[in-house]
Amino acid sequence: MFLKDVFVNSELKKQFVNLIDSHRLSHALLLLGKSGSHSFALSVALAQYLCCENPHDGDSCGVCNSCRMFENLQHPDLHLIFPNCGTKTVKANECESRKFMNEFRTFVFDHHYHLDYNEWVRRMNSENKQLAINIRDCGYIVSQNSTRAYSNGYKIYIIWKAEQMNNDAANKLLKTLEEPENKTLFLLLAEESDRILPTILSRTQLVKIPQLTEEVIRQHLIEDEQLSDKEAADIAAISEGSYVKARALIQENSELHHFLTLYNILLRSVTNFIKNPNDLARIDYMNVQKNFDGLVKEGREAQKNFLNYLFRLFRNELLLSQKGGALVKATSEEYQVLSEYKDFFTLKNATPLQKACNTAIYHISRNVNSNLVFTDFYFQLRNILSTK
Ligand SMILES: [Zn+2]
Repeated sequence: MFLKDVFVNSELKKQFVNLIDSHRLSHALLLLGKSGSHSFALSVALAQYLCCENPHDGDSCGVCNSCRMFENLQHPDLHLIFPNCGTKTVKANECESRKFMNEFRTFVFDHHYHLDYNEWVRRMNSENKQLAINIRDCGYIVSQNSTRAYSNGYKIYIIWKAEQMNNDAANKLLKTLEEPENKTLFLLLAEESDRILPTILSRTQLVKIPQLTEEVIRQHLIEDEQLSDKEAADIAAISEGSYVKARALIQENSELHHFLTLYNILLRSVTNFIKNPNDLARIDYMNVQKNFDGLVKEGREAQKNFLNYLFRLFRNELLLSQKGGALVKATSEEYQVLSEYKDFFTLKNATPLQKACNTAIYHISRNVNSNLVFTDFYFQLRNILSTK
């Protein structure tokens, strides 16, 4: 991973390079970045730069022995630690992360270094199991600390999702984190600093990795994913600064289109009812019911996705009605539909709408009859949007 290929602010990258070149980089950094940001890529690129035999122009060379090993994430001085579940048999003092290294590398390459924790949990097939960085992982780090680096250069530990480190593990690491051997770099990556033990926090230097801007995401979608200008702009607008989300949205594009059609049918019926409760033909409840039946057949995952989608559009309706278009995060098709119904959304109905969506999602996940949930949701929506 070259520094030039990391999607973070170039000033921030320059600062890091200057610190490394002038040997002033702290030995323990905590990089704080949201899921889907490029903080993992940045850590690998920094490690590669630090170990490169021939760095130039503020980046690694890409051709030396060390860089070639980094390309496959197989440099012996690069240690990747990540949340795992102890399902595989491990001997005492064996690092559990290392047991899952092949899966983790594949995960990194599959997602172009933009890591999302929920994706990893799914990949590990442990929906019901808590993943953690455990005491054996940190024991491994401590034991490595006293060994010599393979290349006589730096030893680098990238600890991804440091907030998943359990207390025993964190305590095991403290002393090494504070007084490592020479030429050791700890890069702890986390999304939320308040879930990290204060003893770890106080031993690291905090660096915030900004969210990706809409513009950066748009450009990469055009260059890397070969999307058209319009598609890229639409997806960038709703990806909330996460490239992981943007890539997932490309896959879901057809689902989004289908959801928007459903939204339109639902809102047209509800708003026609509010405007004229006796005009049954225009309310056309049968059509709404028919579409709900279709959605129910698609399964509970799709139903929850739809409710989450509704919630996002409701939020945008409110933004549009209260603050105008500037803050709205929507595709151009969505924007058109939102404009039709925005006048029904006020600050008064914001909380009840949120509640209705959450309750419906809760019931769907609890296996309540989906037809009943959606019928109830529809009538609630009528009531909520009637009170302005
Ligand atoms: Zn190199």
